[in-house]
Amino acid sequence: MTESKNLFTRLSHKGRAGTHIHGFVNPPVYRGSTVLYPDMATRRAAGSKRLEQALIYGVMGTPTHWPLENVVADIEGGTRCQIVNSGLAACTVPLLAYLGAGDHVLLPDSVYGPVRGFADNFMSRMGITTTYYDPCIDAAGIAPLFQANTKVLYLESPGSHTFEVQDVPALAVVAKAKGAKVLMDNTWGIHHFQPFTKGVDVSLQALTKYVVGHSDVLLGSITVNNDADWERVRLTSNQLGMFASPDDCWLALRGVRTMAVRMERQEKSAIEVAQWLAGRPEVKEVLHPALPGARGHDIWKRDFTGACSLFGVVFQPGFADERVDAMAEALQLFGMGASWGGYESLALPSAGMTRTAGTGTFGGPCMRLHVGLEHPADLIADLEQAMLKLHANEA
Ligand SMILES: *Cc1c(COP(=O)(O)O)cnc(C)c1O
Repeated sequence: MTESKNLFTRLSHKGRAGTHIHGFVNPPVYRGSTVLYPDMATRRAAGSKRLEQALIYGVMGTPTHWPLENVVADIEGGTRCQIVNSGLAACTVPLLAYLGAGDHVLLPDSVYGPVRGFADNFMSRMGITTTYYDPCIDAAGIAPLFQANTKVLYLESPGSHTFEVQDVPALAVVAKAKGAKVLMDNTWGIHHFQPFTKGVDVSLQALTKYVVGHSDVLLGSITVNNDADWERVRLTSNQLGMFASPDDCWLALRGVRTMAVRMERQEKSAIEVAQWLAGRPEVKEVLHPALPGARGHDIWKRDFTGACSLFGVVFQPGFADERVDAMAEALQLFGMGASWGGYESLALPSAGMTRTAGTGTFGGPCMRLHVGLEHPADLIADLEQAMLKLHANEA
């Protein structure tokens, strides 16, 4: 049978054990450091397979890692995938793979905060310099930011907290011409953005979000589309001693089976909530690329096949940050906390994010919302009651 083009079908059938492990539907958890060999010839042959899915030593991966690698590579349309222990590690490992002392990297001003911390506090100590650029920059704008030593153009689209949609294909063309690698954090896009058809060389994701889907596991993936990038990423990850727990991989495999159906429901609910918010007088703007007329909608429509359920809202400038905090605290169904992609809704005021390229100001206090699997009518009612706190005299 030819492989289905439909992600729902592939997520249900990819990376399964068939009937060769006693017929159980799911692959088991393989735990182990040592792998024993029958003879030295086999041992030496295994040692030469560092780039393959081969049993060598626990840290190189197990038959619990492989199906997850294969499913994620399939979701992203790449050839190979390296699973690492967190989404943040999925960001830092490829940066270390392609950058060395004396090199320069271009990071979007909207980049996931801990990556900014890694660049400013860690890469800087290694002699790697960073320029932060406006995530909405076009090809003509980014070209002069490349230096002779620029080795990486890093993308994250839409941007963390503020959802700027980047013109990935146009920016990637410039990077290619300048001889730089294109790394992209594709956590928001997941399967809705196919990075390798748009000029990206290395695509990374926090599987912690929708793949795991239940807010109980941290994992990351680094996906590539050719052997040279695979070797670079794979060896860097191994040399840094990165390792994801097989138990966590097993949980992620369980999560990914229902990911498409969860995301479909959550996408619909998020748009319903976002549209309701857009009609409220307290709201200045909704930062959701899938809403017609929203910032970045045209590029989103061109490059994405759908949206996840994470978006932003900008309140009218008259509301102080403390009022927005009070609203977040008054929410009953939305939890206050970091991360997203789980089954439960979250709300987080965005005040205090670091920006150095002059972006991220929307003329009012911002809040990031993650819509979970609760009924959207209940979520809207919750937002409506909590919004009373925006008005100081209701405090
Ligand atoms: C959460 C997140 C990460 C990091 O993932 P963790 O598993 O929490 O380390 C990276 N990039 C983006 C865009 C994220 O939202």
